Amino acid sequence: MLEEVKLFVAENADQVEQFRIRFMARKGLISELFDQFKEVPPSDRRELGLLINELKVSTQEKLDYFKNLFEQSEKATGETIDLTLPAGFREPGTRHPLSIVRSEMIRIFSRLGFTVNDGPEIEDDWHNFSALNFPPEHPARDMQDTFFIAKDPDIALRTHTSSVQVRVMETTKPPIRAIFPGRVYRNEAISARAHCFFHQIEGLYIDHDVSFADLKQTLLYFAREMFSVDTQIRLRPSYFPFTEPSAEMDISCNLCGGKGCGFCKYTGWVEILGCGMVDPNVLENCGIDSKEYTGFAFGIGIERITNLRFQVKDLRMFSENDLRFLRQFEGAF
Ligand SMILES: [Zn+2]
Repeated sequence: MLEEVKLFVAENADQVEQFRIRFMARKGLISELFDQFKEVPPSDRRELGLLINELKVSTQEKLDYFKNLFEQSEKATGETIDLTLPAGFREPGTRHPLSIVRSEMIRIFSRLGFTVNDGPEIEDDWHNFSALNFPPEHPARDMQDTFFIAKDPDIALRTHTSSVQVRVMETTKPPIRAIFPGRVYRNEAISARAHCFFHQIEGLYIDHDVSFADLKQTLLYFAREMFSVDTQIRLRPSYFPFTEPSAEMDISCNLCGGKGCGFCKYTGWVEILGCGMVDPNVLENCGIDSKEYTGFAFGIGIERITNLRFQVKDLRMFSENDLRFLRQFEGAF
């Protein structure tokens, strides 16, 4: 009996009551033992008496423990738990189209050995402008074009992720092969074609003997991985303060395949990015010997690539959180 009491476990209040009746009731096992005790010879009484007492104490302890346990849980819930009740439903979210495209762009450049670097969105004049060869009178330095947080010394919301390129060049010895995804800010009136913030992935490759041919091959690889294997590219001469020579790159229209359609304004080409060879002044500004090293850089708007991929006509849709728009990308990967 002592063994049975020690092993007893109750799963509910009813089982506790059954246990109490079996051992502690007026006609239960323990009172029966006390009745039989009168017939035990005096020589055995002491030993048996101790055992019966131990049984009584153990039984009471078990009863107290389980009674207390079930009373507590009843008080806490106030009612019995209905496990069949359906739980509240939380709809799973979807990836934002810009995140989908950014991840894909990062994957493509990762395959070429580019690492990913991040930097602050609030920048000083040196990292956003001066180190990148922006002359003092450049329009980007104007309040009309850039969100300044402080003047003299100038602190602004970065206008491109090139500021991260500067930070990496200042702290890393070439070879450098990195991309810089991030949000950038410009003081633009918000419309279907322009926004005060957008996203870029810039890239930088600096090593011995890096040539314009390397730049072209890297961007051709990107365009074909991003769009299709038969995508053509063309480079048009352009100007940026931080690259020389500079170019803008078009790809053959991914809708009509270059034949000409409304989307490409019947030219067969659509512009996707700016690029060029890093200006030697920029390398020197960042402590890299421009006689020993050369490099190329490029900057791609993630919104631009997303528009080409999904034909989103209005830039504002990316930041309006309209579920009717966002749900269309549920299956996109
Ligand atoms: Zn077209």
